[in-house]
Amino acid sequence: MRISPARIWRERGTRYRLEASRCRKCGRVYYPPKTVCPACGSRDMERIRLPERGRLLTWAVEYTVPEGFRRYAPIILGLVEFDNGARVLAPIADARPEELRRGMVVEAVLRRVYEDGNEGVIVYGVKFVPVEE
Ligand SMILES: [Zn+2]
Repeated sequence: MRISPARIWRERGTRYRLEASRCRKCGRVYYPPKTVCPACGSRDMERIRLPERGRLLTWAVEYTVPEGFRRYAPIILGLVEFDNGARVLAPIADARPEELRRGMVVEAVLRRVYEDGNEGVIVYGVKFVPVEE
């Protein structure tokens, strides 16, 4: 999916909607959405919108990051659980590792995930940021 800079600008500050797929046969939820369920092989998948807020279950911190991602180090990868039981593995932004705690509320936002300095390509994706409670 390509997103134009103008569209990014318009959507700046607005929350990004998380589209996932749910298997009608076994009930598992996948994000990003899949057309075939890896668990049971069913193709009977429905698109659902995940809630914008979930809770941080656990996380991993990566200090050694590849070229092109260094300005974002350390990269925190969090496992976020929603009220409907769906779980998403996604980067956690705007937080230092020592600020994270189990069960804290996080919110989905659209942030730049990669920038190619030579080509000027900027890729955006969903990240989660801690929410003040
Ligand atoms: Zn399934």
